[in-house]
Amino acid sequence: MTKVLVLGGRFGGLTAAYSLKRLAGSKAEVKLINKSRFTYFRPALPHVSIGVKDVEDLAIDLASALPEKGIGFTEGDVEKIDAKSRTVYYTAPDGSKKEEEYDYLMIGIGAHLGTEMIKGWDKYGYSVCEPEFALKLRDRLANFKGGKITIGSGPFYQGKAPKPKVPENFVPQADSACEGPVFEMSLMLHGYFKRKGILDKVKITVYSPGEYLSDLSPASRKAVAEIYKGLGIELVHNFRLNELRENEVVDEKGKKLESDLSILLPPYTGNPALKASTKDLIDDGGFVPTDLNMQSITYDNVYAVGDSNSLTVPKLGYLAVQTGRIAAEHLANRLGERVKVEQYYPTIVCVADNPLEGYAVSVKDDTWYGGQVSVAQPAAVNHLKKELFTKYFMWTKGDMALEKFLASW
Ligand SMILES: Cc1cc2nc3c(=O)[nH]c(=O)nc-3n(C[C@H](O)[C@H](O)[C@H](O)COP(=O)(O)OP(=O)(O)OC[C@H]3O[C@@H](n4cnc5c(N)ncnc54)[C@H](O)[C@@H]3O)c2cc1C
Repeated sequence: MTKVLVLGGRFGGLTAAYSLKRLAGSKAEVKLINKSRFTYFRPALPHVSIGVKDVEDLAIDLASALPEKGIGFTEGDVEKIDAKSRTVYYTAPDGSKKEEEYDYLMIGIGAHLGTEMIKGWDKYGYSVCEPEFALKLRDRLANFKGGKITIGSGPFYQGKAPKPKVPENFVPQADSACEGPVFEMSLMLHGYFKRKGILDKVKITVYSPGEYLSDLSPASRKAVAEIYKGLGIELVHNFRLNELRENEVVDEKGKKLESDLSILLPPYTGNPALKASTKDLIDDGGFVPTDLNMQSITYDNVYAVGDSNSLTVPKLGYLAVQTGRIAAEHLANRLGERVKVEQYYPTIVCVADNPLEGYAVSVKDDTWYGGQVSVAQPAAVNHLKKELFTKYFMWTKGDMALEKFLASW
């Protein structure tokens, strides 16, 4: 039977694996390799940091969820892919070195969070991108008695060449990989400190390596600036973070912002496992260039989905799911199933939640890609949407067959 190996078990990889199994059935043996047995619903990790969710609420056990749907699971840390010999090399949990051959490969191991690129990260850095970061921030916030807080993202090291074979307007150059979580954290912390009764003792500053939320339309950015004005949040553009110190953060030009608590979305770079792989599989940033079917431009039996693919800009769960679905549909056709392959169309879809104040800002915007849609709306019902979406992801164990319809709510 045709062997399909899927690497990575979050939005992109899970969607690709579940969709392919559903579409191709017994025509493919599908197996997924992920670094850890448990995977976590990342968009609700900010909620962990403010104490409204627990990490356990967001965990999916891949070792049981995938076999329940006829997909094999192996826990392993992928070291490299040899695309020429169709082999993946990985390290098993006991430290032993393993390799696995494939007929088709679907890469969904995401990007790399470059915390090591920020001086002072180990001592002064806080984040929400992984469960352990969110828990560390939760403890710090619980003891925070007031002071200056900075929130921002590190630079995005986007690849430049070779380019993916897709319309150029689909892949704009970005300073930040994704500022949605920064926006969400800034709203959440306002609610958190208000609830704690120390809002007047806290000063929140948000910074961006370029123009903040440059992936949204000028009208949406203006709406966000108005929200920040109302909440007393200061906004600083063009601040490319370089160093964290005890009471300040410093950018690449030496500019400083006072900061007693420094929260950041670390710099995004290509995944080290991809950088160690066959050179012509990746671009100069360590991302995989593909065509609109998510098929590698150099190896036609390799697909890339989600953050690992160079065409997804910004790095967004919504785009990871869309690309995972398309790759599965395209491969199912090659395996003999007649399935309609969806057209890739990038749109920024995300919900920045503020659960402690009972509202969220729902964003839908394609103007960055030349479209006309631009919505950024704060409303109580949007908070409910985020809550339901989290429950939906957990209930389906990451198999979001209806996501295409739900995203247009
Ligand atoms: C705090 C936060 C909040 C966010 N909120 C939203 C949101 O509300 N909406 C939205 O659309 N997007 C959101 N995003 C962006 C979204 O989470 C990412 O775009 C999305 O997770 C990308 O999915 P992916 O599957 O491509 O990659 P990832 O989520 O990075 O998953 C990669 C998987 O591969 C595994 N892996 C990595 N390296 C290896 C290796 N070498 N070997 C084996 N396995 C490996 C990882 O453990 C992981 O399971 C948020 C991001 C953050 C950080």
